Amino acid sequence: MTKHEEIDLGLPYKHILARLEDEGYESYLVGGCIRDYLLGREVYDIDITTRARPDDIRRIFSDKKVIGFGQKYGTIKVIDKSIGYEITTFRKDGSYKDKRHPDGVNYSDSIYEDLQRRDFTINAMAYRKGEIIDPFGGKYDLGKKILRTVGDPYERIGEDMLRSMRSVRFATTLGFYIEDDLKSAIRDRASEIESISADRIRDELSKILLADKPSRGIRILYELGLLSYILPEVKAMVGFDQHSSFHHMDLFDHSLSVLDKLPSDLALRLAGLFHDTGKVSTMFIDERGEGRFFGHPLDSEKIIDNRLRKLHYPKKIIEEVKILSLRHMDSANTYTKKSVRKHLRMMGEETFRKLLDLQMADTLSTSKPNIENIDRARQLIDEVKASNIPIKRSKLAINGNDLKEIGYKEGKIIGESLSYIENLVEDEVIANDKEEIIKFLTKKALFLDR
Ligand code: ATP
Ligand code: MG
Repeated sequence: MTKHEEIDLGLPYKHILARLEDEGYESYLVGGCIRDYLLGREVYDIDITTRARPDDIRRIFSDKKVIGFGQKYGTIKVIDKSIGYEITTFRKDGSYKDKRHPDGVNYSDSIYEDLQRRDFTINAMAYRKGEIIDPFGGKYDLGKKILRTVGDPYERIGEDMLRSMRSVRFATTLGFYIEDDLKSAIRDRASEIESISADRIRDELSKILLADKPSRGIRILYELGLLSYILPEVKAMVGFDQHSSFHHMDLFDHSLSVLDKLPSDLALRLAGLFHDTGKVSTMFIDERGEGRFFGHPLDSEKIIDNRLRKLHYPKKIIEEVKILSLRHMDSANTYTKKSVRKHLRMMGEETFRKLLDLQMADTLSTSKPNIENIDRARQLIDEVKASNIPIKRSKLAINGNDLKEIGYKEGKIIGESLSYIENLVEDEVIANDKEEIIKFLTKKALFLDR
């Protein structure tokens, strides 16, 4: 970057900076947006740091929607044309007591001090009037793909253990390397991760899982000793020999192989990571020396429920991860139109397609992949949807009132008859056509006199 060069972040920012500057407050683009711009990555949100104090920021943007989040720490989010601008007053760090929050906010008048309190060199660059301010060699580290703290790693990690999760997240999403001293600092202090709130850990974990190659992040968490605190049941799979002729990898490597083969969807990636955690407690070796894991999806389900609740994942995500994991062995049976319909009814098309993705990634991560059945299920979904055979009871061409009209009495018999017809329609014995069904019932005089 040469001096006096305008940068194009792909998002507008000039009018926001101009307002602050026009009022006499020195203001910079800072942090993630500069890092991502220099890496040629897409910029999603804009962080601004300014000499203006929170009250000034509010006044200057009083005509805009303003969220005072983290206002205590000097951050205000201004929303303009649905883009969020996080505006933070220059500050320097005071002492830390609780491993996370500085004991008080010390505002500063110096951009240098503000950059100095930021976590990594690659996040400690700012931009103003055509110039990049880079006092800690952030650009150099970007080129070398190195994550390095601003200042002594042992101290900086000690001040705020969330930085350890952030370093793993950036190493994973950007494909960077964590510098050796920073690694040692995290390893030495790994147990202190328990001081960080579940919500913050969850947010970083999710970003790791959604990366192009999530296994990299999970391996780094293991190497740094963080995995046993954050995901002990995943750690328990490390080195676990399945004693199986289907598996050439240990359980941890198998799960990570599955993880990397999945589309970037949170529920799916969580299911990939956890689907076999229940194997650890269920294994027994049969008379031929093969490992057996009867009922392991049920154990995985319990583990998922417990762990994801502790990490405060939303209920909807937890339920989907559970059903995906619980059903991951279904492809052991050959899919038929009937079983495909059953799955569609049970979990809906979107989740069923995710289940097939999980089953595909799972079989491709064994020594004897069997993909035909899963390919066939995908075809069958299209066929089942194209046919007139209902997936839901409400789509059956006949209902309880129709039955009453042809003489059925009120009561249990109505429901039973509808189930009976539903089965026949599913088995393609009769078509889902009102006239045809009525003709069929009348001819057989089924249940009529009961
Ligand atoms: P992204 O927005 O892609 O998650 P980011 O680097 O912008 O990445 P934010 O959480 O938006 O991350 O934080 C903005 C900036 O604030 C960072 O670039 C960094 O300079 C600083 N920062 C964030 N969290 C910390 C922390 N825990 N310790 C020190 N500085 C931090
Ligand atoms: Mg940001």
